[in-house]
Amino acid sequence: AGRLTVIVARSAGYCYGVERALQITENALLSSRTPIATLGPIIHNPAVVNELAARGVSAVDDLDAIAAGTVVVRTHGVPPAVIQEARRRGLVVVDATCPFVTVAQRKAAALRDAGYVVVVLGERDHPEVAGLAACAGPASVVVEDPVQLDRAALRGLRIGVVVQTTQSYASLSRLASALAPLGRETLVYNTICEATQQRQEAACEVAGEVQLVLVVGGRNSANTRRLAALCREIQHRTYHVECAQEIQSEWLQGVDSVGITAGASTPDEEIEAVVEAVLRRAAKA
Ligand code: SF4
Repeated sequence: AGRLTVIVARSAGYCYGVERALQITENALLSSRTPIATLGPIIHNPAVVNELAARGVSAVDDLDAIAAGTVVVRTHGVPPAVIQEARRRGLVVVDATCPFVTVAQRKAAALRDAGYVVVVLGERDHPEVAGLAACAGPASVVVEDPVQLDRAALRGLRIGVVVQTTQSYASLSRLASALAPLGRETLVYNTICEATQQRQEAACEVAGEVQLVLVVGGRNSANTRRLAALCREIQHRTYHVECAQEIQSEWLQGVDSVGITAGASTPDEEIEAVVEAVLRRAAKA
């Protein structure tokens, strides 16, 4: 549009796990005659969650809020005990845990069973990390950054590592470097998923080519926040927006190239709406 170039990252938006979880929820809607609830929002995108709510899929915080019917486990997974408890209460469990998260949970359990002290790299309050830590056992530790490691407590032990699927490679490298000299043996499972890797690489590529970056996705989406942080390291004019309406005209002043990327739970329509909004404002300027 005029002098403005808009580049959309070659890998952005819905990932395999999110598309699969939405399809599983759709199938549950079609086949179930009883109420359907998701444990937490099915994906970290308010517009999609609201649309599903209008069609009868409620998002609840815990099993106590579900009297009967079907409970959908979202992509992040849950501690295995939650699934057992849901079944014990007579609920139908539809498991939409992303297969990449399931692999990370199994690695965590295998490390625990083999006698490793498991270090989980991830955000302490993130539901996926709660599931990983539960699989890793009570002796596991969760760190968001190597500075949080209790080095004295880990020295000389057999240490195993699993990683929240949406972490960055830079964080994993820092943790592995910090642990290698500490443990008697350190076994690192790189459980960052392929979609995360592709989106992060593509976002960084775009951020290096433009004067402004817009990262589209829910503010509660960990992978979207991480994309924004990575882009900001390369292009300080990086803004995280949930929708096109949040774009401010002054951001675009004096800018002749805009890069757009989006988290794994952002639908194509929201990416397209942001592209159109940027082009519209450029045409008016
Ligand atoms: Fe699965 Fe990766 Fe998507 Fe998470 S970001 S749902 S782990 S594919």
